[in-house]
Formats: sequence, C-alpha cells, structure tokens
Amino acid sequence: MSTFVELGISSKVADAVRDAGWTEPTPVQCAAIPAALEGKDVLAQAQTGTGKTGAYALPVLSRIKCGLGAPQAIVLAPTRELAVQIENEIYKLSRYSGHKSVAVYGGASIGLQASRLERGVDLVVGTPGRVKDMMERGHLDLSFVSEAVLDEADRMLDMGFSEELDFIMDALPKKRRTSLFSATMAPEVKKAAAKYMFNPTELLVSVDEPCSDLTKQYFIPVSRMYKFERLATVLGRGNPKTIVFCQTKKMVDELIIQLSGDYKSAAMHGDMPQMRRDRVMKNFRNDMFQVLIATDVAARGLDVNNVDLVVNYDVPPDSDTYMHRIGRTGRAGKEGAAVSFVTKMEDRRISMYERATGKEIMRVRAEDIPVMDHQFTDPEPVVKEKRERRERKPAEVSAERPRAAETERRERNPAEASAERPRAAETERPQVSVSKPVKVREKKGSVILQINLGRDDGLTRVQIAQFITDGLGGTGIGRIGLGESSSFFELPYNSAKAVTEAINGCSYGSKTVTVQEAPQKVRYAERSRAAPSGN
Ligand code: AMP
Repeated sequence: MSTFVELGISSKVADAVRDAGWTEPTPVQCAAIPAALEGKDVLAQAQTGTGKTGAYALPVLSRIKCGLGAPQAIVLAPTRELAVQIENEIYKLSRYSGHKSVAVYGGASIGLQASRLERGVDLVVGTPGRVKDMMERGHLDLSFVSEAVLDEADRMLDMGFSEELDFIMDALPKKRRTSLFSATMAPEVKKAAAKYMFNPTELLVSVDEPCSDLTKQYFIPVSRMYKFERLATVLGRGNPKTIVFCQTKKMVDELIIQLSGDYKSAAMHGDMPQMRRDRVMKNFRNDMFQVLIATDVAARGLDVNNVDLVVNYDVPPDSDTYMHRIGRTGRAGKEGAAVSFVTKMEDRRISMYERATGKEIMRVRAEDIPVMDHQFTDPEPVVKEKRERRERKPAEVSAERPRAAETERRERNPAEASAERPRAAETERPQVSVSKPVKVREKKGSVILQINLGRDDGLTRVQIAQFITDGLGGTGIGRIGLGESSSFFELPYNSAKAVTEAINGCSYGSKTVTVQEAPQKVRYAERSRAAPSGN
C-alpha cells in the first residue's frame, strides 16, 4: 500500500490528511488519485464509506490554485445533507493549502450563499437545482472551472436531476477534468459518463465483500405457495436483522402486509420518494425495526453494516445482483447469512451464483438456518409473539393490538418520534411547514384519523398503510377508508399521538402530509360512501 505522499498529492494537502488522522489511503484513493493527478477523467463505482470524498477531493485540491476570485472546481451532490458533509471534509483537507469552499443547496437563504460566493471561493459544492438557479441568477460563474465532480451520480439521476446536470455540465469549459462517482453503474449512469467525460479511467471499488467468508450462503428449495411459510420459519431463527429482497414492488407490498402483525418491518421500493427512503434507512440503521423488504432498485448503495440475514425471497436473475444483495451482510467483521428461496424452475441459478462467488451454496431446510440474536434498540417490541400465521390477503388488514413498549417509549418522548421525520428543506424538493400535532385523547380503544392522501395522489390502501407505518413498526393500524383527496384510518388511541407526530409535516411528492382526528360525526358507513375502500 502506498502512502499519500507517494500517490503524489501536494505537500500542504498531505499535511491536512495527516491532521485528519488518515494514515493510509483507502483502495479507491490508491486507484483514483494517481489517475486524477495525471489529468485523467475518473469514473468510479464506489459507495459511501470507501473514502470516495478524499479520492476526488485530494487531487482536486492538489491541482487547483488558490484565490483566483472565481471557482475552479465544482462538486455536485444529490442532497443538502451530502453537500454539507462534503464541504466539511474539503474544509478540513484545505486547512494548509488555504482553498476556500462553500456549499450551496436549496431550502436555505440564497442571499447568504450568494454573498459568500461574491467574497470569492475556489471550490463550490452544491446540489444541482440550487447550482443551476444561482447560475441563472448570475450569482455563480463557472467559466473558470477546471475540475468537475459528480458525486452519487446514480442518486442524482434517480432524483430527476438530469436536466439540471446537462445545464451545468454544458456551461463548464470543455477543457476540464471530470470525476464521476456512483454506487452503481446503471445504464443511465454510463450514459451520463459518456456525455460528460472523456476517455475516463474506470474503477470498481466496493466496501462490500460479496464473497466474504463471513457470509454463509444457503438455498431452500420451495414451491411458490410455501415461500411465505418458509420466510416465517427463517425469520423465527432468533431475531435476525434482515433484508428480504423481492423482484417486484407488488411483492414488497404483499409481504409488508403479511408480516405486519408479527414483525416490525418497513418497505423500500423505487416508487418511494428519496426522503422517505432515507427515513426508512435511518430507522433500519438505528435498529428501530427488524425486517426491511426491498426491491433491488431501492437497495442500491444501501449503507448499513450490521445486517445478519439477507433473504432472496425471489432469486435475482443475474449473479451481479446476487452478489450485490448478499454483500449487504457479512460486513465490518460480522458474520452473516444469505438464504435464497429457489423454485424448481430456478434451481440452475444456484450453480451460476456459486461460480460468481466462488463459494458453495448449501442446500438446507428453513429450520436449519443458524439462530441469530440481534441486539435491537428496543428489543421487546421488535418481534411480537411468533404465532402460527394464516395467509392474509391485503384487504384483510385487521386492527392489531398496539405494541405496548414501543408506543410507551414514543409517548414518553414525543420529541424522539418527531425527530425521525425529515427536517424541512432536507433536500431541494418542495418542503412546507410542519403543521401542529393533533391532540388525541389517550384512552383505551381506537381513534379514527384523517390523512390528506388518497387516490388523487395515486395511492392504494396498501400504500397508505405503508406510508403510515414506514419505519415506525407496529402501529396497530386498523381499517382504512381510501378517498379521493383524503383517507381515514383507524389506530389504537395510545399509538395515534406518536404516529401523527411522526407523519405530520412529511412530504409526499410536493404535498405536505397532515393527519388529524376525523370529525366525530363521520361513521364508517358514511365514510365508505364518501371514501369507498378497496385498492
Ligand atoms: P467517504 O466514503 O468519503 O464518505 O468516507 C468515509 C469516512 O472515511 C469519512 O469519515 C472519511 O473522513 C474517512 N476516511 C476517508 N479516507 C480515509 C483514510 N484514508 N483513512 C481513514 N479514514 C478515511
């Protein structure tokens, strides 16, 4: 392994690296820094945690001058949070070189950011919408940029920023160096690379070790009809923190409903806005719930280190996806297991995965999966009694008793529940103010609440239920009446307060979601006329 100095970064930047306590370059830094310092475009598949920020920032800081009065480098990132984080890292790394940087992002005063730019900066980190806006308003002149970076390019494209990216990249001088970092190399990322880059050096670096010895791989032959039963058995082996992968969003929806009575679970699929995905991920990372049910598209770049078990409820069609999925476990020195449910038609795929991973995949019964005991933040409510389940159709979601401990925790500390909802202006997407939490009387029984989402928002009953329970686990949601612009749902009194506080003020598309107690006089019969149920 080389040292930072051997990689060729400037001595002032190397001093800052030393102060940061980085003793050795990470693999992505070893690969990207020399190519960048030679002036080559760099296209890297690398996730958060690989040291990717240093991989592009160190050569940029080594190559650009200080104090020219106009920015010579631009870093584009998908969210305000990431832009701020990158700028903090760059600030730290420019301690001795003296480069000045600023982060510009939506949801904050454009005037303040503009005046910072006016005072002169060498490097701008920004979200695409705000950068474009500031260029159009004449606050930001990028005509002296010689170094451009697209960080988390896949996410920027997922969030619909391609038009902004085209606008910004077109405005940059042709004679420049460009780096593109992305967790995946999806076709749209490759297309963007072809558009914005010239003959890039391509790197593939991953924090994951998909073939890690720490991950034991199993497969269970199963017919379609018994998949759910097998899943229940596998999840019942201790209380493993689990990601269940499905091939379709519809299957994710079905599993959420089926598991909802017994396990704290949440869904993650491509139709969910990024902010909701972030909220679910935060709760999963913090061990607030046990089972994440996801499609591949939503699971790209999932950054979580302590997953015990990956279940391929539907086996993936190719070995790349298989490796990516099972790479979610067996990380950071912890053991993990990956289990694939394989139907007769699919059993040839196992040898394909074995070839790809270079490891044997053991045939087992569901009850042979090792017992894994995960320490959850609040162990009691994570797994409800593991009773024999009968198949439930989505339409049969019935009122569950509240999970007492979870509810109590939230009741005791409502601030904690509201802290889970996204902060206003977390991204550049429209955000509106948080409405007042409803006052819900605390007594036994249930309460009917009204949410301002419905068919007009393209939602089904299942999706409304998911929106309400995402990451909050056992809220005990009961009947749901789906209406056009608003819907009704039933909750136990003592979880209603926490749920409304967590939901009020969240965004759905451009809408701010509000929940309030339904008017007393609304009865189910009337509601079903006003808001007929069904998907
Ligand atoms: P990133 O992948 O850029 O989000 O970096 C993940 C974390 O690793 C950040 O906290 C960095 O400060 C840190 N880091 C980056 N490079 C190194 C290194 N060479 N040695 C130690 N820590 C590093």
